[in-house]
Amino acid sequence: MKTIKDLGDLRGKRVLVRCDLNVPLDGTVITDDGRIRASLPTIKSLTSAGARVIVMAHLGRPKGAPEERFSLAPVAQRLGDLLGAPVAFAVDTVGSSAQTVVAGLGDGDVALLENLRFNPGETSKDDGARGAFADELAALGDAYVSDGFGVVHRKQASVYDVAKRLPSAVGGLVLTEVEALSRATDNPERPYVVILGGSKVSDKLGVISHLLDKADCLLIGGGMVYTFLAAQGHEVGRSLLEADQINQVKEYLERAATMGVEIVLPIDLVVADDIKPDASPVIVRANAIPHDLMGLDIGPESRELFREKILAAKTVVWNGPVGVFELPIFAGGTRAVAQALVDSDAFSIVGGGDSAAAVRLLGLDINGFGHISTGGGASLEFLEGKTLPGIAVLEG
Ligand code: ADP
Ligand code: MG
Repeated sequence: MKTIKDLGDLRGKRVLVRCDLNVPLDGTVITDDGRIRASLPTIKSLTSAGARVIVMAHLGRPKGAPEERFSLAPVAQRLGDLLGAPVAFAVDTVGSSAQTVVAGLGDGDVALLENLRFNPGETSKDDGARGAFADELAALGDAYVSDGFGVVHRKQASVYDVAKRLPSAVGGLVLTEVEALSRATDNPERPYVVILGGSKVSDKLGVISHLLDKADCLLIGGGMVYTFLAAQGHEVGRSLLEADQINQVKEYLERAATMGVEIVLPIDLVVADDIKPDASPVIVRANAIPHDLMGLDIGPESRELFREKILAAKTVVWNGPVGVFELPIFAGGTRAVAQALVDSDAFSIVGGGDSAAAVRLLGLDINGFGHISTGGGASLEFLEGKTLPGIAVLEG
């Protein structure tokens, strides 16, 4: 992959940069600017090289037309604050505002285009429609840098098609992601332990299947526990259960046994009658969930068990909180897993948007982790061994 250095002298050049600035908003207030901060190093390296930087990004899921609540205007403001320099905001993507803003950039200046997904071409499945939008975007720049790891698994105009139209390079953020995640996919140091949590087993079937060939041990937490317990014939009460996945999970359990891969399920659980802050949680054995309660976190013995496995590992990947960590009464398991990662000597990777959010919310020292991925779906697909279009296009 070409890096920014390979693009040559960038002074005065217009450089389009795809970033992942898809931050959570409460109205127009940014509630977590982690993704904006993560984008700063690449933007700064371009401005200090004298480039005229044009940042492209999306926010939320507008349906191919402008929608005020998905405007990137608040992000332009925050980006400017963090850079300590104004960011010129174009109120459209490739229209007259974008043209004017780009024409007005001086060397080292930064502009942000409005939400790319206000244009239907961005996410179109039709190569022609996507290509037409990519032509218009490419006309705004002289070179392209791919730095939005959260979108590299998408074949979208600003991720894939623009890269085909301009001299292109990988940004530092995407490069760091690829290098870190490769440590888990290419000859990981063993034991290689993976903690899988989150809400749905169906989201993570691909990764489970792939990891059975790669990992030494899978620790299962979160909402997917109950489909595993059901597959073993246990009662799960009112816990999250994907009945249509039970047979698939049974097959995984058998495959794991044949291959000598350890699948570790919680032995005790925190259960309650509802997901509410004033619930009265109780701890039960994992094979004895009362019929009227639901499992919402792993219990204290399971935390200890998971911790032992994590401390024995040389490579650890964690994807998905092991409980409903958003409520303090169900956050203990997720905290324990995160703390074990911090305490372990293993190279640790945190993938998944909610897992990374949990690390921040629970106030853990982010320096205690080997790598915190900025891309949920993208990091999962990478770990699944899939080809990511936004990476492949830079290699081609
Ligand atoms: P990530 O974004 O890290 O990949 P997911 O999006 O798959 O994670 O899942 C995160 C969600 O899973 C969290 O909102 C959490 O509350 C929920 N969750 C975890 N454990 C349970 C459980 N036992 N029952 C229901 N939801 C759960
Ligand atoms: Mg998530």
